[in-house]
Amino acid sequence: MNNKLEKLVQNLFKKGVIKSEIVKKVLLSVDRQQFVDESDKIYAYEDYPLQIGYNATISAPHMHAYSLELLKDHLQNGVRALDIGSGSGYLCAAMFLMMKSQQSKVIGVEHVPELVEKSIKNLSQQFKIIIDRAYNQQLKDKQIQIIRGDGRLGFEQEGPYQAIHVGAAAETIPQQLLEQLDKGGRMVIPVGKGNQVFQVIDKDQNGKINIQNVLGVRYVPLTDLNKQLNK
Ligand code: SAH
Repeated sequence: MNNKLEKLVQNLFKKGVIKSEIVKKVLLSVDRQQFVDESDKIYAYEDYPLQIGYNATISAPHMHAYSLELLKDHLQNGVRALDIGSGSGYLCAAMFLMMKSQQSKVIGVEHVPELVEKSIKNLSQQFKIIIDRAYNQQLKDKQIQIIRGDGRLGFEQEGPYQAIHVGAAAETIPQQLLEQLDKGGRMVIPVGKGNQVFQVIDKDQNGKINIQNVLGVRYVPLTDLNKQLNK
């Protein structure tokens, strides 16, 4: 057992950020250390974001936990999930474990080519080492797929999605993501410039949208690749 990871997860549980056994189990199963840069391995189990290069960060564990709790009921067996701005790949692994089954699929969309490569490497290592070989097969079978592209456009080919996580702050909610959200589905997304608000967006069976503001947050912007790299 990894004591430091366990302590981190216990603390999030005590604070009430982790509420459910399933999120707890998943956070204990995905080793954050596998998703951070070599020089930051010693900070992997601290509850703050870490730079992963290209003006991107791996989000803080409490935000990963918070997002998974909000999406929990939508990450069920057999559904499709989308992770926009998938960065390190951490949340793709976690979302997949929430709903592991033959039919489930997680699509990550990331616009920095080097991060696409890095996250695929992180994910393969993660599934090889701590879980079992079957998961590695699932990666090969493209049940987890990282797409290089502009996340604001989503990934229509595999949609609609029951669960969408957006890991970068949009100035306004991208229309394509709303369209690719399935009926009965949920999207979590930080919205705004500077002071951002974490929003929970539900689409009901009639296609009606309901938006709740749940938290003030600070995320990397969901933007053009050039703007991000030349910051
Ligand atoms: N959930 C990720 C968050 C990474 S930070 C993690 O915890 O590792 C946000 C990510 O969004 C960065 O990797 C950044 O490159 C990416 N990003 C920003 N704008 C984007 C866009 N328009 N399309 C795709 N990815 C984008």
